[in-house]
Amino acid sequence: MTKNADLELVALTKRYSGTVAVDAIAHHFKAGVYACLLGPSGCGKSSTLRMIAGHETVSDGSILLGGKDVSHLPPAKRGTAMMFQSYALFPHLSVRDNVGFSLRMAGTDKVTRDRRADEMLELVEMTALADRKPDQLSGGQQQRVALARALITRPQVLLLDEPLSALDPFLRIRMRAELKRLQRELGISFIHVTHGQDEALALADEIIVMNDARIEQAGPARDVFNAPKTAFVARFMGGHNVLDLPQGKVALRSDQMIVMPAKAGRVDGRITGVEYQGTHVALTAQIAGSQDVTALIPEAQFFETPKAPGEVIGLGWDDIAAHPLAS
Ligand code: ADP
Ligand code: MG
Repeated sequence: MTKNADLELVALTKRYSGTVAVDAIAHHFKAGVYACLLGPSGCGKSSTLRMIAGHETVSDGSILLGGKDVSHLPPAKRGTAMMFQSYALFPHLSVRDNVGFSLRMAGTDKVTRDRRADEMLELVEMTALADRKPDQLSGGQQQRVALARALITRPQVLLLDEPLSALDPFLRIRMRAELKRLQRELGISFIHVTHGQDEALALADEIIVMNDARIEQAGPARDVFNAPKTAFVARFMGGHNVLDLPQGKVALRSDQMIVMPAKAGRVDGRITGVEYQGTHVALTAQIAGSQDVTALIPEAQFFETPKAPGEVIGLGWDDIAAHPLAS
């Protein structure tokens, strides 16, 4: 097999007794892509990832890697690897032995596996700590070891299930930059499960939004954010108002709302909240039909003509800012 291979999901389905967790999803992951599976808790992200990894049986449909059906192969024979949470490290093994563990299982001799483990540790910048035990490492360092342990099998596709969720916010942002750098350097595909839209936007070449066991929308990160196809995607991605207007349901970016004097815009609204956010001020207003609208206004612009709760304002937008929604 070549180093880079496309991964294809064909009508992939997971049924647990009584639940359809993944409902005949289809997707083509291009080789070398950073893809994020994004969606709320329970929508089927982990089940999808575990089927790709081979840690969960496929109920129906198939998984093709480099054109070959791997749906029923054991995890180690697929060309995929799963990065497990750092708490799955073996506490009694050194960092180096943790990283080399899968090679030991495969019967690789000690000299070779130590050399390969050291290469991986260099990749994640952990060379100096190779002889430590996991409990002598910080959370971020453990995370790197878990990453090195997954990468040592030279997978074509690395699967990561909420890899940053156990980290504090500061470390999470540093580790996500690290993941992106590694993916670019290695040139392999990463499929990263998250329920955080900011994480998906920061990392992904491609975002696959899941809802209720199905793929709701997939595409380049900017397309999914700028042109959500459904109300669910618009709400989940954030930064949008979903409004029922005479022309139907539309998504309107909060930062593209224009605040005007009453009667000068497309709709009037009464201000219900003013929230200072540093670079912006978020104004919330209630328009006809008790619908709440948020307008994100650059802070300098807001403070030129400050507004207060109770005031009536007009709201405008360019036609191009309104995206019609399917539901
Ligand atoms: P996510 O990762 O998006 O939170 P999961 O794939 O873990 O979603 O779960 C999808 C659905 O399948 C949920 O309704 C969940 O309760 C159910 N589920 C997951 N794993 C099992 C299991 N081992 N047995 C039965 N139901 C499961
Ligand atoms: Mg999950």
